[in-house]
Amino acid sequence: MLDARINQDRLWRSHMAMAKIGATPGGGVGRLALTDLDKQARDLFVSWCREAGCEVRVDRLGNIFARRAGTDSGAAPVMTGSHLDTQPLGGRFDGIFGVLAGLEVVRALNDAGAATRRPLDIVVWTDEEGVRFRTGIMGSGVFCGLEKLEDALAKTDESGCGVAHELARIGYDGAEPVGGYPLHAYFEAHIEQGPVLEREGIAVGVVEGAQGSRRFRVTVEGEEGHAGTLPMTGRRDALLGAARMIHAINKVAFAHDPLPVITAGAIFVRPNSPNTVPGQAVFTIDSRHPDAATLAAIGEDMHAACAAIAKADNLALHFTQTSDSAPVAFDAACVDSVRAAALALGIAHRDIYSGAGHDACNLNHIAPTGMIFVPCEGGISHNEKENAKPEDLAAGCAVLLRVMAEWAES
Ligand SMILES: [Zn+2]
Repeated sequence: MLDARINQDRLWRSHMAMAKIGATPGGGVGRLALTDLDKQARDLFVSWCREAGCEVRVDRLGNIFARRAGTDSGAAPVMTGSHLDTQPLGGRFDGIFGVLAGLEVVRALNDAGAATRRPLDIVVWTDEEGVRFRTGIMGSGVFCGLEKLEDALAKTDESGCGVAHELARIGYDGAEPVGGYPLHAYFEAHIEQGPVLEREGIAVGVVEGAQGSRRFRVTVEGEEGHAGTLPMTGRRDALLGAARMIHAINKVAFAHDPLPVITAGAIFVRPNSPNTVPGQAVFTIDSRHPDAATLAAIGEDMHAACAAIAKADNLALHFTQTSDSAPVAFDAACVDSVRAAALALGIAHRDIYSGAGHDACNLNHIAPTGMIFVPCEGGISHNEKENAKPEDLAAGCAVLLRVMAEWAES
């Protein structure tokens, strides 16, 4: 088994061939879920899997499973994969690497004539990016029982075109039930989508889990007035108060170790006129941290900081939490396996938390799950400029091969 070797050139060529489908002028990929381009990408993947001797199944939500048989056909599979859909102006590697790394694992095992006890499944999850149907991580969410199939099939895009209709149109409305069977383990390879690994010159990130996130909507109420006639003293300027609050919540971030990420990303001002003192300002906060208790404390600290400013500036404050997603801790044995594989292969590695959500975060609810990160250039992702080095992709893939081979025997 361990004679099997990843073919770096073949893995890279597969990426470049896949990147032609929906290629953008800026060197990226635009391939929204369940479009004609998504169909072409799926068809190419399926043809490669059949060439590699896999049996391909499609479930009712269009999730694709390509199976390399094991010697024990009744055993629960070891699964790997990710997604082939992208952002409107996305990159060539986000999601695609996880799918093609799985394919390369199968091809490498085929080259070596190596058998595994458990079957190996390569999965393509439907609509991970959530752009077109305003969803997010949809296919794996339904597979893991976190969302209802009927709800997912009923989603529509801006033109009113539905998921069920589009699945049928592109020929990926499969017959298989969605989920409901045991997996022995799930591993997902992915680009980091952040700058840490590249900055440290490290090829593989051993992903311990994913940050939790809490989002807030902050409404600041003051009093509108004429910009020329209302004196500076005694004003109740809602935008000025919001600006002070945004500055204060940024300081809250730096009071915690390890650092959370806190972003005030959107602001709405009323009446939004150059010569009126703003009477209302509403802004959003996105806060993320890997530890649930710290994340909760950060929310309370931000609320207290905003309340103090509102009081001092004679403003009314409504501080509302709009979403709460708990941090994800991956299975300790899976994380250990990824670390041990990198060590055994002599690949530079470090532990890391995912800043973004992934299909693996859903799978973690139903099976022992681990993730493998590789660096991407400048940490840039969800962008046409997204790039990765062939040797880093191969290193991550080699770790994937090793952990899958190990778990396929256990
Ligand atoms: Zn992704």
